[in-house]
Amino acid sequence: MTDSWMDSKNQIKPITIDTPFQVGPVNVYLIFSDALILVDTGPATTEARSQLHAGLKKHGVSIKDLDLLLLTHHHPDHMGMTAEVAEYATVAGHHRLAPWLSEDQAFIKDRIAFLQAFYEKHGMEDEVIRAVQNQNHAYMSYVEAAPLEIPLDEGDTLDGLRDWHILETLGHAQTHLSLMRDADRTMVAGDHIIRHISSNALLEAPYERDGKRPRTLLQYREGMMKCRAASKIYSGHGDPVEEPAALIDRRLHEQEKKAAYIRSLIGTEALTATEITRRMYKGLYERQPGLTFSETLGHLDLLEEGKQVKLTEEDGLWLYHQSVNL
Ligand SMILES: [Zn+2]
Repeated sequence: MTDSWMDSKNQIKPITIDTPFQVGPVNVYLIFSDALILVDTGPATTEARSQLHAGLKKHGVSIKDLDLLLLTHHHPDHMGMTAEVAEYATVAGHHRLAPWLSEDQAFIKDRIAFLQAFYEKHGMEDEVIRAVQNQNHAYMSYVEAAPLEIPLDEGDTLDGLRDWHILETLGHAQTHLSLMRDADRTMVAGDHIIRHISSNALLEAPYERDGKRPRTLLQYREGMMKCRAASKIYSGHGDPVEEPAALIDRRLHEQEKKAAYIRSLIGTEALTATEITRRMYKGLYERQPGLTFSETLGHLDLLEEGKQVKLTEEDGLWLYHQSVNL
């Protein structure tokens, strides 16, 4: 360890790394505590690798000094370079990260099968389903994984990371967690809260066999309420959020407005989620069917929860209607 590392105890330092994804660069963080902790890695690309090494060097450390790698969630811009960092650091993350990090083929097959049947029931066309599954596969190819050594849950603490605890912040991903420093309520929140864009609550298959599909937007809203108490949030993308409560309230309100608009699109018809998505995102659905479908479905879940729409099954298809008796 160098002297500059010892001087910077209790600091949080971002390293910004380019990604090949539409979201743009990702922030990974060094936390100087009793141990030296890296939060997230960047994707497994040559460019990201040299940017990570350069970023560590700028802060007076090298990859060999890292004690712990904490992963916020399973997306490749956040955990792509796990294998390389794991040569030196212990890997910690949400307990559901384990099958992603071991690249469990049965787990991946189950998820593909669930999505296939789910999209079909919601009226998505075969060739579009194929395109979505191919996109998912290509996306995950930016990961070089290594096994999860410390599985984490809500409220857990980590050796070497004094005064911090883990918050489970699901919704964007079913493996998502955030960190909160108790003394000043500073958070490192991955993709759960991002200042310049609203984070997607993404459709995922259940993790338990025969389990129910997670209602990801509802989870996401619950997770945001947990973050309202934060004084400052360091995000996976973009600048830190200085007034989290105001931003969170705005996001919650925007979701309610979007849900009301989606309800108005249904009108007096009975429509599949795919048709509602097509009407909601004209043109964009064709280019980004997975993302736009997921976004629409989340808001339909919110409407269903509020008893503003109901779901019926006809000829093997699920249809959304406005609820009467309001
Ligand atoms: Zn993400």
